[in-house]
Amino acid sequence: MALRILFGMATGALLGAFVAPHAPWLVDLVARPAGALFMRLLLVLVMPLAAAALVLGIAELKPGALGGVASRALGLTVALTATAVGVGVFLVTVVHPGRGIDRSALPAGKPVAAIDTPPIDTFVNMVPDNVIAAAAKGDLLGVLLVAVLVGLAVRRSSGEPARRLVEWVQGLFDVLVVGVQMVMKLAPVGVAGLTCVLVARTGLEGLAPLARFVAVVVGAILIQGIVVYGAALHLLARRSPLAFYRAIQPALAVAFSTASSAATLPTTLRVADSGLGLRPDLARFVLTVGASANQNGTALFEGVSVLFLAQLYGVDLSVSQSALIVIVSIAAGVGTAGVPGASLPVIAALATAVGLPPESVGVLVGFDRILDMCRTTLNVAGDLVIAACVDAEG
Ligand code: ASP
Repeated sequence: MALRILFGMATGALLGAFVAPHAPWLVDLVARPAGALFMRLLLVLVMPLAAAALVLGIAELKPGALGGVASRALGLTVALTATAVGVGVFLVTVVHPGRGIDRSALPAGKPVAAIDTPPIDTFVNMVPDNVIAAAAKGDLLGVLLVAVLVGLAVRRSSGEPARRLVEWVQGLFDVLVVGVQMVMKLAPVGVAGLTCVLVARTGLEGLAPLARFVAVVVGAILIQGIVVYGAALHLLARRSPLAFYRAIQPALAVAFSTASSAATLPTTLRVADSGLGLRPDLARFVLTVGASANQNGTALFEGVSVLFLAQLYGVDLSVSQSALIVIVSIAAGVGTAGVPGASLPVIAALATAVGLPPESVGVLVGFDRILDMCRTTLNVAGDLVIAACVDAEG
């Protein structure tokens, strides 16, 4: 599958670079609708699939195992996210990519003093009061929190009706997996569409002035993916990092081409099972929660971006403001949705909180997609690393 997706990306890139400039209708009437339809078909199946996977994962974990698995996964999530943000902050401070860029061309706007939602409310608001409304808003994290509650309740219920519910959820899960397999047959075409639009709209020249920033983000992602994950795989999962990355290639290819951890979840679950041989109940639980709550690449990107914008706008950050950025970025790794571009509103809020104009995020918008593809790949690899580590311990 990874090869078919790479073929789709290459075709899309060639069409975007060489054909689209002479035939703009190719982007508007063919590539954009093809890419958008593919993403919609995938995302429409993912929310019920993720909820079903989580209910099953929690309901089926052996008695006594759930607490251990959950706390180990949580501990690793916090540790790996903090490391990712640390690596990013270190690089952006040392390289200082914001220097030497012409400030007159930056989007202007009034700096704003403070963010108005108290941070504690951000956490309270993660829990929905209406699951249908949460689903209708596309709030995957909210729906998953309800699924956790249902899974826990199923574990405590005994008797025939609860068993029938689990059978029903298993049936739903099996059918949605087949649905995703059908949609994934369209992946090369969908991915070609997404890449064609990206190349036709951005072009590589859009990246040039910000090359140092791009290098910092990609460098930090590579350090986290190779050095930090390599060490975790070696020491905790007792696996060869090379064999691990070879086995998860299809998930990395889907993550890179769709820029969505949520859309990648079905492939992530599949490679955990067929490529890595992880226990299905454990993998369903850890990977489903991870797709929305463990986003190392996103946390890293959010921290690096705000520090970069501060450098760019010449805003000197106090120690407490820098600490706020680091802490909020780590928390945002949990709270950012697994869909394309989900980091941007978080960055806008963080930028505002440290006194940058909200418009400053405009600097990042033009080429966000390319970096989104890279950070999403790290997000998905991180989920699988944690699942492999927890599997090895249990
Ligand atoms: N696209 C990312 C993901 O799906 C989220 C983000 O950083 O924008 O994991």
